[in-house]
Amino acid sequence: MHEMTVAQSLVEAIVQEAEKRRAKPVRAKMSCGELNGVNDEVLSFAFEAVAQGTLCAGVKLEIEHKAIQAKCRACGNTFAITLSDTTCPNCKGGDFELLPDAPLLLEEIEFEQGTDDEEG
Ligand SMILES: [Zn+2]
Repeated sequence: MHEMTVAQSLVEAIVQEAEKRRAKPVRAKMSCGELNGVNDEVLSFAFEAVAQGTLCAGVKLEIEHKAIQAKCRACGNTFAITLSDTTCPNCKGGDFELLPDAPLLLEEIEFEQGTDDEEG
């Protein structure tokens, strides 16, 4: 299962960062390309399962799907393409090449606010 592999690498990356910071992660955000075929529900479920018993347990995972990008051959503009609109927003041209799908990326991790020694 594709999602299980993704979940595993996400948990590993988050645990590593958490250990480095000695903080508890509470939320993580990842992004992936539209064409990647990651199913949000399946991935969230897999993530929860893999996170059990690690520093990642209870972390809320957000998944952002990035639209497919295209590059206009006429003006060089790069834009997000949708099924309903396949013209360049810059020059209204319809001649473009599709760019590679966005990779799976761990965008940010939010950690619990530290309760370290405060002065004062
Ligand atoms: Zn254009």
